[in-house]
Amino acid sequence: MKFTNSSHVIIFGGGLVGTLLGLYLARKGCKVDIYERRADMRKVQRFDGRSINLALSDRGWRALQSIGIGDEIKEISIPMYGRSIHNVDGTVSFLPYSKDGLCIYSVSRGTLNAKLLELLENEPNVAFHFEQKCVKVDFATTTATIQHMPTGEQFAVKADAIFGADGAFSAVRASMQKTDRFEYQQHYIDHAYKELNIEALPDGGFALDKNALHIWPRGHYMMIALPNIDSTFTCTLFFPYEGDPSFATLTTPEKVDDFFSKTFPDARPLMHHLEEDFFANPTASLPTIKCYPWTRNATSLIGDAAHGITPFFGQGMNAGFEDCTVLSEAIDNSESWQEALEVYQRSRKPNTDAIAELALQNFIEMRDLVSSPAFILRKKIEMR
Ligand code: FAD
Repeated sequence: MKFTNSSHVIIFGGGLVGTLLGLYLARKGCKVDIYERRADMRKVQRFDGRSINLALSDRGWRALQSIGIGDEIKEISIPMYGRSIHNVDGTVSFLPYSKDGLCIYSVSRGTLNAKLLELLENEPNVAFHFEQKCVKVDFATTTATIQHMPTGEQFAVKADAIFGADGAFSAVRASMQKTDRFEYQQHYIDHAYKELNIEALPDGGFALDKNALHIWPRGHYMMIALPNIDSTFTCTLFFPYEGDPSFATLTTPEKVDDFFSKTFPDARPLMHHLEEDFFANPTASLPTIKCYPWTRNATSLIGDAAHGITPFFGQGMNAGFEDCTVLSEAIDNSESWQEALEVYQRSRKPNTDAIAELALQNFIEMRDLVSSPAFILRKKIEMR
């Protein structure tokens, strides 16, 4: 497909996937309008409990490299060459990801999103509309109803194509759910997550090995930590909602301190604001969302809107970025939006279903198997 400035695309969602998609489409020559429900994240401080940092891996890198921003993002990322397993007795073992020094990278969600927004602003044919949300889409006419959040005013905009990059609770998908034979499945696991912090050392250094993804496996729950470029670590506790221990039992600062001191004895002294963070930061649920088709006429879902997965494989954003690469190729080799979107959804659906399953399986590996002597021995043999 060849575009002119009159090829008009609307993207709902200015998150990681919506902004990357915007870059791809703008560079193909489309006129792109991005509508984001929230205010410009570069102007307002916000923490909504969504992962502060993310693991960026090969499929994500390929998408960033192919539009020429891989090196810029690498500069703000920290390589992690393997998993550091922290046992209750204080011992730590390191399991490399490969024998060839391959790694994944820890990158700040906010910095990455801000960088993508900045790059988009340099594209002449892109316009941002913050605090404006998708209300519904009419697929037959490719027309969206949009609400200006501060005033509540609603208006309609027609486009050649519309993308729902509006996350796991997508409004574009909600409109699709009202259409015939639309399959939708949502499943919550029994665990929630909460983000906590390990502070930098007084001399500004890292309190743990900065080039590892740290895991405290404890059977049916776990804590992980990824490094940040300011020498802190963001920890994520994946923990049951109910039972003992669970979020339901850690109800006072004393109980939190006691639990962490006994369960994560080497991490506890590094978490200087533990009790404060524990009660201030949200406890967030972990859904897996599957649906099909992703496409109705010239409207399509992308990223978490099409496939919400649990974070245990570190692949949600990476898979969303790969959606953009595959869609871009499909557009280049198609004669119409409908043809491109059909190729894209058929190619991506089996892969993202597989990633969703692998993510759930990896929770068991991370929280349980990685601490077993047999697993460690097997990994050591594999690395020889
Ligand atoms: P989102 O990031 O959710 O962005 C959607 C955007 O749409 C938001 O800005 C939202 O405000 C906006 N929006 C919502 N509704 C509307 C509307 N009606 N109209 C307009 N705009 C709207 N992935 C990895 O690859 N590696 C990791 O290590 C990793 N770790 C994770 C850890 C945790 C704890 C969690 C929860 C997720 C993790 N993920 C990870 C997954 C990753 O966060 C998501 O896959 C990724 O954010 C999806 O990007 P997105 O742009 O599709 O959706």
